[in-house]
Amino acid sequence: MTLDIPTGTDAVLTSDTHLIQSFANLHALKQDGARTAIVEASGAMVKDSEGNELIDGIGGLWCVNVGHGRPEIIDAITQQLKTLDYYSTFYNFTHPAAAALAEKVASLAPGQLNHVYFGNSGSVANDTAVRILHHYNNLRGKPQKKKILSRMGAYHGSTHMAMALTTPAYSDGWGAVEGLVTHLRAPHKYREAPELSDEEFLKLLEQDMLDTIHRIGADNICAFFAEPIQGAGGVITAPPGYHKRMREITAQHDIAYVADEVVTAWGRLGHMFASKDAFDYTPDIITTAKGLTSGYQPLSATIISSEIHEVISRPEAMFLHGMTYSGHPAAAAAGLANIAILENEGIPARVQTTGKLFENTLRGLGDMAMVGEVRGSHFMMGIEFVKDKATREEFAPDANIGGAVAQAAQQRGLIARALGNILILSPTLIMDEAMITDIGAILRDSIGEVSDSLG
Ligand code: PLP
Repeated sequence: MTLDIPTGTDAVLTSDTHLIQSFANLHALKQDGARTAIVEASGAMVKDSEGNELIDGIGGLWCVNVGHGRPEIIDAITQQLKTLDYYSTFYNFTHPAAAALAEKVASLAPGQLNHVYFGNSGSVANDTAVRILHHYNNLRGKPQKKKILSRMGAYHGSTHMAMALTTPAYSDGWGAVEGLVTHLRAPHKYREAPELSDEEFLKLLEQDMLDTIHRIGADNICAFFAEPIQGAGGVITAPPGYHKRMREITAQHDIAYVADEVVTAWGRLGHMFASKDAFDYTPDIITTAKGLTSGYQPLSATIISSEIHEVISRPEAMFLHGMTYSGHPAAAAAGLANIAILENEGIPARVQTTGKLFENTLRGLGDMAMVGEVRGSHFMMGIEFVKDKATREEFAPDANIGGAVAQAAQQRGLIARALGNILILSPTLIMDEAMITDIGAILRDSIGEVSDSLG
């Protein structure tokens, strides 16, 4: 049987009236139908329904790390489905693909992060981390230790719990659960305290953390959630030494450090995991998804320390957590094949060169009048546009300069992601020098065009 999925623009847009899209103004979509239907992908490129070939400058959604259309992953998924299409990991059931992937992930994760719970999205990985820590503290006789510290600018997902962990701008009017999560200051010097040195800013962030712990009480706080680099909050990098220092403070107060590596793991910053290898700290839990399968299958992992695992596997403890598709065989096979590619082709090590070239190419745009800050690392970059470079005066939030630049870039053959007045680039990790040079040129022309249009 061959499935006949229509791919023409008209067919895609008609059926789209039934599809609820994510993070979109649904009214605007209904009115002008200005969507881009992606119909094919290969390597670092995608093709839209009008036949345009575009560089995938956002790697799907920061996830297609090894590039599109890799036959090794597609074959592994197919083979797995032929052998065992589905079985659960509930009760005493298990299956080889999930077990093998858990072993592989544990072998790559830093320190004592030896135990893996699979889910099917980054949001679920973070929800799972919260549930496990609440359970862990109940078992340790600390049932009041449930509150969570997060940060302004954070993005941890879109389920109810993950929304509450995320910066309030993403839950505006949606009624995030109250009283459970406190957001510390964003670690963003350019916007929070440009007049300070990195060291002074770090001191201020430390004090914010300490004051908040003292106000809420360490006995009431179970976790600190932090992305190594904040992604969907605008690609915000903390001052040097930040994570290590925060890790020390949380450890001193018996607060678990949850590193949300949904984006930063699997080579994007030049390492399998960024926490230990790029930022020199070992958290108590790592949550990850996206590049774990390069997006070929939905899969996430909540990787916990042996110390936490020891407690939750006590004789009296029942693990009342489970999702039908946890460790789905096809997703686990995709993860194994994807990690094999990352390892066999030395992709993380390659990114240390190509990603640095990408970062430097984008940093080169910092000489343009409208570019306020270029930030990020390797293949995770953001460009903030400003009205006045000297004073850092922002464009009005609804000016959507990022959107205008993204549109101009798409007309030149590059997909980038707009976030208000910020542009985000997170391409596949298989970019070569020529493609990186092309991206730099397209962005310079596109920013110039928008800048000129503003007069
Ligand atoms: N955490 C981070 C850092 C993310 O960037 C995302 C998604 O972009 C998530 C969690 C949520 O992942 P998902 O969309 O797979 O639920």
